[in-house]
Amino acid sequence: MNPREADIVIVGAGIVGIAVAYYLVVRHGRRDIVILDPNPPMTMTSAASGENYRNWWPHRVMTRFTDRSIDLMEEIARASANRLHMTRRGYALATRRADIADMIGQLHAGYGSADPALIRVHEANASAGYQAPDSADWEAAPSGVDVIRDRALIRRVFPSYDPEIATVIHIRRAGDISGQQMGQFMLERIRAAGGRLMPARLLAVARGTSFDLELHGRDGKDRLRAQILISAAGPYVGDVAAMLGESLPVTTLPQQKLAFEDRDRAISRRMAFSIDLDGQTIAWTAEERELLAADPATAWLTQPMPGGIHCRPDGGEGGTWIKLGWAYNRKTSPAEPQPPLDPQFQDIVLRGASRLNPSLRTYIGRLPRQMSHYGGYYTMTAENWPLIGPLATPGAFVAGALSGFGTMSACAAGELCAAWVCGGALPGYAKDLSLARHHNTALMAELTAARDKGTL
Ligand SMILES: Cc1cc2nc3c(=O)[nH]c(=O)nc-3n(C[C@H](O)[C@H](O)[C@H](O)COP(=O)(O)OP(=O)(O)OC[C@H]3O[C@@H](n4cnc5c(N)ncnc54)[C@H](O)[C@@H]3O)c2cc1C
Repeated sequence: MNPREADIVIVGAGIVGIAVAYYLVVRHGRRDIVILDPNPPMTMTSAASGENYRNWWPHRVMTRFTDRSIDLMEEIARASANRLHMTRRGYALATRRADIADMIGQLHAGYGSADPALIRVHEANASAGYQAPDSADWEAAPSGVDVIRDRALIRRVFPSYDPEIATVIHIRRAGDISGQQMGQFMLERIRAAGGRLMPARLLAVARGTSFDLELHGRDGKDRLRAQILISAAGPYVGDVAAMLGESLPVTTLPQQKLAFEDRDRAISRRMAFSIDLDGQTIAWTAEERELLAADPATAWLTQPMPGGIHCRPDGGEGGTWIKLGWAYNRKTSPAEPQPPLDPQFQDIVLRGASRLNPSLRTYIGRLPRQMSHYGGYYTMTAENWPLIGPLATPGAFVAGALSGFGTMSACAAGELCAAWVCGGALPGYAKDLSLARHHNTALMAELTAARDKGTL
């Protein structure tokens, strides 16, 4: 192989670029692949992921796409003695609402099925068929969704929850993985097939009979020639398209996470990934509220906040850490190497999460020193669907805009992008997840009008 030439160059060694390379290797036998990245693999957005996965979406296309990705993660779990630490206690969506007809309607729309066996409603005294998430084993978990309206059952299975919770929607094909382990597993196969990682930043691209890439590597300026160019540059996916004279409809939205040692054992190690669906106004003391409201920079903290705050134990039953997240930020900002962190986030997410799990109040004002506050960008389209497929420039492709779901959908995104590149069979959702959907006015009108975009 000529070190200055490659059949396929992928820009970005995050989980998405790595997954594209993996499926080019394992499905299509491509070997002459270079992954460009000035940073070590999986150290940008992919390092900030909560690493949760679910097949719960408000639209059938996204359900199919993530279901496919979960199938592929299961394939890797089987082939590697579960090296990616896949668990499956589900997503528990909790609400104080008892009337949830609209939510049941959304579940049927998302799963595209009226099959009563798929969405099982457990009313009081009729909950014998419910399987509690006692085991983390993904192979032992049921499929479908359990809608629990039996308060006694909720108290029994989710004892740490706010007693006002009236309904828990338990999504069963959901849990967490180690995205880092999955990336390592894929990298080993890519390297074994002859694929290379090149520590360099793409600076510019010229298109002649092939792509002429100008790079900045460890020893300064460098060049590389490629037949195929794939942008998997995460928050910089739009910048790479711009090098080709193309514009992508994506924005970057900073989001944050808080992880800390649960030294007071506030959260059961067996608790499912738990989401408070209800919006809330944070329970500040009267004095705090007055102070915050008086400053225009902090007055918003006294206003109603959206639902979606989430919490889960991290590191399995033997671990001691917990992770909290709340994607309430709606202000986009251009990507920076160090995503901005709001020092108030720690207090906000802790107080917010204490509403569903009041035991977390023990940490308000006394967070353990063993903690980690970090963040990254949701690189996203307005409709919150990804962009996977050809760019307008012949031979150029994109795998990006994977927002807050890139870890869980990396496998399906990699498989799909590899099929576009190699002219392989495309799944039914391929066109809808490519730039071509923007020419489908009916679909775009439906997605623009949708209130729920599946952002979590
Ligand atoms: C706080 C937070 C929580 C999240 N939680 C979850 C979750 O629970 N589940 C889930 O599925 N997803 C989650 N996500 C989303 C997920 O992390 C991302 O969708 C995914 O990591 C995106 O991967 P990527 O490979 O596209 O991007 P990245 O990991 O950012 O990788 C892009 C790479 O491209 C490289 N690059 C950029 N420009 C160039 C250039 N010019 N030349 C060479 N290389 C370049 C960068 O150095 C970088 O390494 C979360 C995201 C955040 C921010």
